Amino acid sequence: MESPHGVYRIGDRGEAVAEIVGKLQRLGLLTGGHDVYDEATAHAVRGFQQQRGLMIDGIVGPQTYQAIDDARWRLGDRLLTYVPSHPLSGDDVQALQAKLQELGFAVARVDGIFAADTQRAVTEFQRNMGLPADGTCGPSTFKALQRIRPMATGGRPDALRAREAVRAAGPRLSGKTVVIDPGHGGFDHGWEGYGLRESDIAYDLASRIEGRLGATGVRAYLSRGRDQGPDELSRAAFANETDANLCVSLHTDGSMNPEAQGVATYFYGNDLHGATSSVGEQFAGLVQREIVARTDLLDCRTHAKTWDLLRRTKMPAVRLEIGYVTNPHDSARLADPAFRDVVAESIVVAIQRVYLPPEQDAATGMLRLGQLTV
Ligand SMILES: [Zn+2]
Repeated sequence: MESPHGVYRIGDRGEAVAEIVGKLQRLGLLTGGHDVYDEATAHAVRGFQQQRGLMIDGIVGPQTYQAIDDARWRLGDRLLTYVPSHPLSGDDVQALQAKLQELGFAVARVDGIFAADTQRAVTEFQRNMGLPADGTCGPSTFKALQRIRPMATGGRPDALRAREAVRAAGPRLSGKTVVIDPGHGGFDHGWEGYGLRESDIAYDLASRIEGRLGATGVRAYLSRGRDQGPDELSRAAFANETDANLCVSLHTDGSMNPEAQGVATYFYGNDLHGATSSVGEQFAGLVQREIVARTDLLDCRTHAKTWDLLRRTKMPAVRLEIGYVTNPHDSARLADPAFRDVVAESIVVAIQRVYLPPEQDAATGMLRLGQLTV
């Protein structure tokens, strides 16, 4: 069933709401009859969002809808095949990828999306098992997958491959490609506070980073123009088209609570099947530590999330929430161009540190732009 691209919240009713309720019931998250999106429905949605590393708001938008839809599939429920125009996604795909990975067949990432890499891994598996190698996962392939035990345990092939890609790229910054994704834009200003708009700050920071990266020979691309606001899927598709080495998404946070403050960095991951971007997690840690070392923003640490921009990008990607525009301390910092320069420098240094072998790396907060390996 196609995802209805609507947004559903408390008080809504109708066919789509009935379908959402039905799915939550089948997942065991909701009991009883609900002919309207009520408090209990919102509660079930929040619980689901928390389990899945989604934004927890109790509202079903396109991403939560997709995740609820994904959750109903168990491996073997349906034929799995590669549909380039509309790749299948679901928990069954994720289980398949985890299993292939375990057996040593290369999958770019355990992300629950049946793309060309998964098809290749299935074909390879079938060939090894003496099955018709068509890349489609049907009953005989499911049976073979269940039967076979991994040869070796330990080690995460995808994590090792991602690390190897970083090592092979070498320590030099010049020649690398980085996509910088300023959050929001167009009609969507993001959080606003103290005369600041998230979309403007993100764009300004992106320009500062772009300039610094350009000076080190990095091809830096912005995912949007100053007045544009593409959706998350277009941004991820853009990053994939440029074949970037890394992607950095820039946001500031906000809250109804004026005391909420600090900086946090997010990378792709969730607790299901141990699917995490290892380089993404490392990159997030570097960005977070460089910013915390160079500014007085509160350290809200790094976290795994399954947001589209993190999940759909093929390269290691991070999303930063740099301060709260709704907090007096953070907004005063964010308004200051000198502070923005420090943040931009922190991010460029973190990008360099992803590629530096340990013996060339400097301590957090010590590396300066002039010392980068260009
Ligand atoms: Zn934002």
